[in-house]
Amino acid sequence: MFKVGITGGIGSGKTTVCKVFEVLGIPVFYADTVAKEIMVKDDVLINGIEATFGAESYFANGKLNNKHIANIVFNNEAELAKLNALVHPAVFRAFNDWGNSMPNTVPYTLKEAALLFESKSYTMCDTTILVTAPIELRLQRVMERDGVTEAQVKARMDKQFSDEEKAKLAVHFIVNDEKNAIIEQVFALHNHFLAKASAQRN
Ligand code: ATP
Repeated sequence: MFKVGITGGIGSGKTTVCKVFEVLGIPVFYADTVAKEIMVKDDVLINGIEATFGAESYFANGKLNNKHIANIVFNNEAELAKLNALVHPAVFRAFNDWGNSMPNTVPYTLKEAALLFESKSYTMCDTTILVTAPIELRLQRVMERDGVTEAQVKARMDKQFSDEEKAKLAVHFIVNDEKNAIIEQVFALHNHFLAKASAQRN
């Protein structure tokens, strides 16, 4: 199966772009959503989290003790790296299983991940898309969407690679600013991926 990784900085509009691909019938794996789901479902991951961060990482009812984990990893890069080293391989496994379950009628799939490049998960994809938008617009979008302050959005931005760093690793680009419509850009890439996927199958 031909796999396309898609990412972009916070508020760039990567989820919005994915929705357009979904309308075209392309299944999208939302890695960040799946990561949250498997924290309470994947036994290998659960055992790893308990072994690393203690049994108090989970409540008796199986729910994740978010506060406990956040207290450990917040502003502690070494502990965050330990958590990522457990979660990222589990997401890779989930992505593989998900891809293998796709019917033959699916021409290609998309993997949306905020940290596609940072987590190195782009190496599992055949190609990548970086969604970009000016910082001011991204700040404004996220402040409106999440009801948060500019400082809070900037703190989240600081944890991600800059667009310049991501652009060095990306193959395709979608510009989601106020001048460029995303639909035409998605259509053009969709046709390109259909051709690539067909060439890969034959
Ligand atoms: P995050 O990293 O926080 O998940 P994201 O990159 O997935 O963000 P979206 O959630 O797709 O970004 O978009 C951020 C906000 O901006 C949303 O409220 C979305 O509706 C809005 N938005 C995105 N693109 C456009 C656009 N072209 N026109 C108008 N609004 C847009």
